[in-house]
Amino acid sequence: MEYGRLNERLIAELEAIVGSENASTRAEDLLCGSYEAVPLMEYKPDLILAPRTAEQVSRILLLANRHRIPVTPRGAGTSLAGNSLPVAGGICLDMSSMKAVLGFDGANQSIAVEPGVVCDTLNDYLAGRGFFFPPDPASSPAATIGGMVANNSGGNRALKYGVTRDHVLWLEAVLPTGEIIRTGSNTLKSVSGYDLTRLLIGSEGTLAVITKVGLKVMPLPEARAVSLYIFEGVEEAVRTAVEIKSSGILPSMLEFMDEPSTRASFEYAKMDCPEGCAVLVECDGRSGAVEREAELIHRIAMGRRPKFFERASSPEEAERLISARKAALPALSRIAPTIFMEDFTVPVAKIPEACARIASIPDGLGAPIGISTFGHIGEGNLHPNFLFDGRDPEQRRAFRKALDILYRDVVIPLGGSITGEHGVGLSRGDYMELEHGGKAVRLMRELKRVFDPNMILNPYKAKGGPWPPPLRGIGGAH
Ligand SMILES: Cc1cc2nc3c(=O)[nH]c(=O)nc-3n(C[C@H](O)[C@H](O)[C@H](O)COP(=O)(O)OP(=O)(O)OC[C@H]3O[C@@H](n4cnc5c(N)ncnc54)[C@H](O)[C@@H]3O)c2cc1C
Repeated sequence: MEYGRLNERLIAELEAIVGSENASTRAEDLLCGSYEAVPLMEYKPDLILAPRTAEQVSRILLLANRHRIPVTPRGAGTSLAGNSLPVAGGICLDMSSMKAVLGFDGANQSIAVEPGVVCDTLNDYLAGRGFFFPPDPASSPAATIGGMVANNSGGNRALKYGVTRDHVLWLEAVLPTGEIIRTGSNTLKSVSGYDLTRLLIGSEGTLAVITKVGLKVMPLPEARAVSLYIFEGVEEAVRTAVEIKSSGILPSMLEFMDEPSTRASFEYAKMDCPEGCAVLVECDGRSGAVEREAELIHRIAMGRRPKFFERASSPEEAERLISARKAALPALSRIAPTIFMEDFTVPVAKIPEACARIASIPDGLGAPIGISTFGHIGEGNLHPNFLFDGRDPEQRRAFRKALDILYRDVVIPLGGSITGEHGVGLSRGDYMELEHGGKAVRLMRELKRVFDPNMILNPYKAKGGPWPPPLRGIGGAH
């Protein structure tokens, strides 16, 4: 793919759109736009622009499209698959300055926000009004609503409340050709067109730039009950989760951590709990009902003889247990120089088999690669974390082999998906056809062309293409 290059005149024109204080070519700023939360990948943009309005985004895209300059939208850069990295250079479109709450409507249970609003900030705003926005990624202190919509993020409460997709009513978005469109409606039902809202959700910034979001919100539950159970093995933990789900209770959280994850997380969170296979359960709703559900969950879990359990006795205590699970990735990051977090789904009943097969992956790699797994067991969505030293070429090669085994020999044969919530980005691109087949992937790439004929928006990502990228990450790890 041939792209144009930014020259001084073009940079000056683009700067004039956002104001020089919202544009930068300084090395230190470009460096910040070169990384996200994923290791071993670095792609430098040539210019960072932080627009304040949809009209500015539109003018930037018009100009970029005319000169075929790549544009990559970015929220907080917490993606874990290279989703927000500017592979072909060009413009990093930093959307984090568009962070206004535009209007809250309690009667309609909806809120309109700009895409740069941070998830936890939104929930602080809503809590004061008796509401909450349920999607709850562990990165909620940093993740922006625009990034969550573009990645269709999930999180800890997806089992009961669904993922980001289930809470978006409408979008305002700018096409790569500069036109501003509005999709969806402010009502709960509408079938008046193809569902462009759902098409843009999860498109990883490859089809349009989101500039406003209409969200469904929910009344805060009256009560919550949070309990932690620790079992000797994966099998007991999974069977407990399956039994809880089959009992007619729909927990708001049903989370899992394996032994290495509990060891790291409990130490990190300074919690006095034994290591093992942990199941964290939350139920929420009316207080009487929550109490009855918590009791039934307790009976089910105790039937599997956990070696430890704890029921939170206060909201602060509940928060402490949940934070330990949310801290699993940072906690594991302290163990090895490089940690790569993967993200797949399998049918829940297949989790023990998936875990057993994953545990044996390091055996045939010929290099020391550790694996530790946690995730959203209720949805069959697990995150195996590969721990190694990315500075060592042997270990990088072994890691690539491990990924191949994970997706080709474990996830797809068990009837799963190569990503449940983090997206395809760059790192899972080679496995798209394995899951969807060639024809479906070609259809997706044709759809990209309809939105983006010059392929300027977030190019070289597997969902939209072109694929493969010309340059892989540091040392060819991806
Ligand atoms: C510690 C940690 C824990 C995490 N836990 C979870 C979890 O529990 N569940 C989960 O689903 N994810 C999780 N993630 C992944 C990540 O945090 C989420 O995908 C998050 O929603 C990304 O938001 P962001 O603002 O950082 O977006 P970015 O990473 O900046 O961007 C995400 C994608 O959206 C595009 N984009 C950004 N803004 C716009 C816009 N306005 N218009 C169009 N496209 C846009 C980008 O190009 C990119 O493709 C975790 C990450 C970390 C580091």
